[in-house]
Amino acid sequence: MLIDVHGHIGRVLPDRREFVDVTNLIAKMDAWGIDTTCILALSEHPEGAYLECDTEDIIAACARYPTRLVPFCLIDPRYGNRADMDFTHLLEEYTARGCKGLGELLPKMEFDDPRCLNLYRQAARFGLPVLFDMQDRPEGYGLRDEYGLPRLERALRECPETVFIGHGPTFWAEISAEVPDGRRSSYPTGPVVRGGAVPRLMRQYANLWADTSAGSGNNALTRDPAFGLEFLDEFQDKLMFGTDSCKRSDVDAIYPNVATLRDLKANRKLSDEALEKIAWRNAARLLRLSAVPCGTPA
Ligand SMILES: [Zn+2]
Repeated sequence: MLIDVHGHIGRVLPDRREFVDVTNLIAKMDAWGIDTTCILALSEHPEGAYLECDTEDIIAACARYPTRLVPFCLIDPRYGNRADMDFTHLLEEYTARGCKGLGELLPKMEFDDPRCLNLYRQAARFGLPVLFDMQDRPEGYGLRDEYGLPRLERALRECPETVFIGHGPTFWAEISAEVPDGRRSSYPTGPVVRGGAVPRLMRQYANLWADTSAGSGNNALTRDPAFGLEFLDEFQDKLMFGTDSCKRSDVDAIYPNVATLRDLKANRKLSDEALEKIAWRNAARLLRLSAVPCGTPA
């Protein structure tokens, strides 16, 4: 059993030829051995992908393959532009229509902006974990934080009912206590220095989880193989497999995050129990995916 908690459809990239329709997503899942994919919305943020991937598109796509696809909804924290905006009407509707999480949250805002804290708290009231992207460059997309992730820590502390799913280059660069200059929004290489913000916060706060998706997740977990295995083992109860595949043409090869998981399994680098949790059990538990059969081998 394999659940991808980080999938996309729509025109995520400017190149129209890379438009991912739901059929192409299913083909990728079949090619990579993925049983279930959570599709994340993007278009609610002007910084996100522009077309055919808002919450309505995601719900419609999931309705075509209800046993294989799980919708996430998205709300821009700037909607209403006030720190006490009431999102109940949206959250009520989206959860009633099957959405299991909120994401991919990536506005260019400070992580602990009062409008974001307001959205985090309301998502928790509806049982929705918040999957975010963090990038500290001033342009483009992604929530922002300082070195050591104090703004994320404030949100974890002040929104204890909200489960956060970490993702993105800046989040993963902070797996190490030393982030090379100019590499905080890219993929730092080489040994991880102990004492990084990500392991510290994951240890300290029950409500911080992470997915393994994208080049950023894959790089963080493989750049220092011994540290990566230690990290996967220590946080085996709050890490979830993901791809973040955005291209139609990705179907032509095995996706790197899938290859990493296969390597861990084939070479017995991690216990079967830990692998099963990361591959699907944690996601099924957190998102309450009742359709996923219990006891299915990884
Ligand atoms: Zn994504």
